Amino acid sequence: MLNAMLTGKTALVTGSTSGIGLGIAKQLAKQGANIVLNGFGDHQTPLADIQALGVQAAFHGADMSQPTEIEAMMQFAAITFGRVDILVNNAGIQHVARVEDFPPEKWDAILAINLSSAFHASRLAIPAMRAADGGKGWGRIINIASVHGLVASAEKAAYVAAKHGLVGLTKVTALETATTGITCNAICPGWVLTPLVQKQVDAKAAAQGISNEEATRQLLGEKEPSLQFTTPEELGDLAVFFCSAAGQNIRGVAWNMDGGWAAQ
Ligand code: NAD
Repeated sequence: MLNAMLTGKTALVTGSTSGIGLGIAKQLAKQGANIVLNGFGDHQTPLADIQALGVQAAFHGADMSQPTEIEAMMQFAAITFGRVDILVNNAGIQHVARVEDFPPEKWDAILAINLSSAFHASRLAIPAMRAADGGKGWGRIINIASVHGLVASAEKAAYVAAKHGLVGLTKVTALETATTGITCNAICPGWVLTPLVQKQVDAKAAAQGISNEEATRQLLGEKEPSLQFTTPEELGDLAVFFCSAAGQNIRGVAWNMDGGWAAQ
């Protein structure tokens, strides 16, 4: 282990069986935090990868669209590790269609998973965070929004609405905890090459009859001036910074890591 800034702390990262959530979980584990993973698909490999970093790790398979399952996950984390000190609200899905064609059930699912789940996990985590550090309070809530929490793109109505909502929830949570040791901030990535984005690259390639490489080039070229993907590790390092002592008075920000996307 390189560093142990977060030894003794527990981080729960929703949607951490792949992509950005797993990247963030690994960077927090490298700082010594015990980890609660969550998400769908194979969880044995990510769990073993985290444990190999020398920390304790556990998994709960709550479906983040279901408030009762989120409650069960938060109870599981408290029973397993005592308390959640760092909550990373990361689980998210995407669906692309014009407003008039957008399936209502996809709208409901995106709002539930990308926005309401953060409300439920936060409301359940905050009481123990307030009681931490002898009642002075300590906690970090990090909401993985998106550059789409700051600006819009066509055909992403539910996602853009949910991510703008998540930035709003971040600000309210930060205000309500402003005099405590709990901070709440949002991270707003541009393009990150994860399964969620690979599906959009594949759809673009299929729709236009172009190669995957060309679809990737076009995807970046349309929005991201750096023409580079941000990596899950880079996002994890920003989360680590928010957890550091230097981050104690960063409150309610929506910090984009987007290759210049929102600067245009
Ligand atoms: P991903 O598809 O690789 O990972 C999503 C994770 O969420 C997986 O672990 C999946 O199992 C889990 N998940 C999905 N539905 C769930 C549910 N109902 N309950 C529990 N877990 C569920 O996606 P990603 O790209 O790593 O995205 C992670 C977050 O980052 C999302 O909130 C996404 O909106 C956001 N984001 C991604 C990008 C990007 O370019 N990839 C950019 C900005 C923001």
